Amino acid sequence: MNIVILGPQGSGKGTFSSLIAQRFNLKHLSTGDIFRKDKEFSKYTDKGQFVPDELVFKIIAPYLKDNIILDGFPRNLKQALFLEKKLKINYVLFIDVSYNTILQRLKTRIQCPECNAIYNIKTNPPKKKGLCDICNSSLTKRTDDIDEKAVKTRLDNYNKEIKNLLGFYSKEGILFKIDGSQTIEKTIEEIYSKIT
Ligand SMILES: [Zn+2]
Repeated sequence: MNIVILGPQGSGKGTFSSLIAQRFNLKHLSTGDIFRKDKEFSKYTDKGQFVPDELVFKIIAPYLKDNIILDGFPRNLKQALFLEKKLKINYVLFIDVSYNTILQRLKTRIQCPECNAIYNIKTNPPKKKGLCDICNSSLTKRTDDIDEKAVKTRLDNYNKEIKNLLGFYSKEGILFKIDGSQTIEKTIEEIYSKIT
């Protein structure tokens, strides 16, 4: 089984990918990490330049093996067509979250000053109030101001970017829209109910 997960920053798709990977015994391929480690790729991004799809394909191709959940790839229609030739995708999960939800999440986000673990007062609180689950340090609220306009721009750009992708997978009949505004537990339950 092969899965593609789509969703903007703040949708929690990284967390969901790990959970899905564990449950269905899949490899979680977080492509951002792979791309960032590639020197040729970084040459483009360091200069703020667009990375050619051909380079993206060259980097990603060796990783495209069965029983995988792809997180961060494909990002556009051309990439989806490339992927289609390499792997049969069974499910495309789109974690749909609104701008307001993302903003609220950022506002209620807290980070461990010691180990950098991230929590959310509302949706993903630590087991003991005010203490990090991992290292037991006391948790402080993030004080950095949230640039609301930047958050909105990022989400708008993302939605524009993947619009064609959603259309393509919808036609293929493998697109599942997931309500990402719920709690992590509810969202993952909804995801599991789609994968049969
Ligand atoms: Zn910690």
